[in-house]
Amino acid sequence: MREVRVRFAPSPTGALHIGGVRTALYNYLLARKHKGTMILRIEDTDQTRFVPGAEEYIAESLGWVGIQIDEGVNVGGAYHPYRQSERKSIYKEYAQKLIDSGYAYYAFDTSDDLEAMRTRLKVAGSSNQQYSAATRMSMNNSLVLSEEETKNKIDAGETYVIRLKVPAEGEIQIQDLIRGEVKVDSSQIDDKVLMKSDGMPTYHLANVVDDYLMKISHVIRGEEWLPSAPLHVLLYRYLGWEKEMPQFAHLPLLLKPDGNGKLSKRDADQMGFPIFPLTWMDPNSSELATGFRESGYLPEALINFLAFLGWNPGTEQEIFSMDELIEAFSIERIGKAGARFDIQKAQWFNQQYLKAKSNEELALYLLDSLKAEHIECSNEKAAKICGIMKERVTFTHDFWMQGKFFFNAPTSYDEQVIAKKWNAEAIHVLTGFSQEISKLSKLTADVAKFTLEAVTANLGIGTGKILQALRVSITGGASGPDLMMTMEILGSEEVVSRIQHALKTLKKTI
Ligand code: GLU
Repeated sequence: MREVRVRFAPSPTGALHIGGVRTALYNYLLARKHKGTMILRIEDTDQTRFVPGAEEYIAESLGWVGIQIDEGVNVGGAYHPYRQSERKSIYKEYAQKLIDSGYAYYAFDTSDDLEAMRTRLKVAGSSNQQYSAATRMSMNNSLVLSEEETKNKIDAGETYVIRLKVPAEGEIQIQDLIRGEVKVDSSQIDDKVLMKSDGMPTYHLANVVDDYLMKISHVIRGEEWLPSAPLHVLLYRYLGWEKEMPQFAHLPLLLKPDGNGKLSKRDADQMGFPIFPLTWMDPNSSELATGFRESGYLPEALINFLAFLGWNPGTEQEIFSMDELIEAFSIERIGKAGARFDIQKAQWFNQQYLKAKSNEELALYLLDSLKAEHIECSNEKAAKICGIMKERVTFTHDFWMQGKFFFNAPTSYDEQVIAKKWNAEAIHVLTGFSQEISKLSKLTADVAKFTLEAVTANLGIGTGKILQALRVSITGGASGPDLMMTMEILGSEEVVSRIQHALKTLKKTI
């Protein structure tokens, strides 16, 4: 097998869409699996769509999810530069080669000329209004003009583009590793612009030239690029590179959660889930989009979730570390059908990964939240809290969101629990229990349980009947982590003070 060299080639036009992260991931998995090379190339030839900060955002996002770049921007490598705007002269050379060999031509048409062509064709009832074999001979280009006329125009500084001379007919075949054979008739393809009037190449030329020069073995990219593939095949052919042509693999679309249509940022906004790996502030609109990281997802969970959007291992196993994904990955197991973006599944993965972490690791997330709230807490206490909460949380910030009561005594109480469970029996038990607890200097979960059972037995009241009242007096809520452990973490003094406060405040309610 040819040495595996793959590239992720984003355009810095904004935040990296989650689909882009999946594309990068599949490239990375293939590279690592075959001890190959993962390249990051920035395709920034469209100056009008350039967004400041986007390239840095892409690099940071890949770093966060653990996709390591072997060659590329910021890393360097034998085929540098890896930013297309810095490779202008290279593209010019190959465009010239195509002109010299008769596969491309200069076109001087103004936008008015192009508009007039389209109108003409429309009026004539043609469904195809492209600049192509059917129309090129009636336009203002070097195929129509004499060599001298062309030269004069260029020397006079007239603006021009370079177009590919796509044959009038003939079948172009692509062997796609996911889709199999894809056939397109060249009459369907227009004479694509290769070099723009500003001297920059278009995506098509730059992409093919770079893939060839950087010795790319596999082009793994989103399905939206499939229509461009036949044109790329023509370029490889005309440049004499057909033997070195990479293998193509066009990934299935990411679909909306209900499976109807392509997933968009609008869907994500409407349904309240992230679509970018990291929070992104659009520099033009100042619109802020919260990322997966800031929404409390772990990078390992996101990677695991994304790996399954279009690929499957062929077994029942669902939890895969990056190393396990590398081991199990193959392009053959990528499906053709669009993959439903099921955010609940992403949350499930996050839960699994949170649960599997050590209490000490999880404590860091809680400590982060506490720092922002200016609340002091020892690592040990934070780890203990996380330990009893980890079965219940979905996101990293849930330790704080659902565990605030560990740090702030309740100021209000769940009304339903009060209505149903705050009664004379509960008051008796809680009074006796707090009296007993106040005698202890150290409270453990076992002692709390034992003491509670002794008090209820003494009063002839079932422990189960008053548990919810006890919880609400301590946490304010109807549910939460293990109550005995909660009391151990709070300590005897705090437990007594909270019960006393509840007894005083809630007296009036019955
Ligand atoms: N620059 C293209 C993009 O933004 C790359 C497509 C490809 O991988 O060929 O997705």
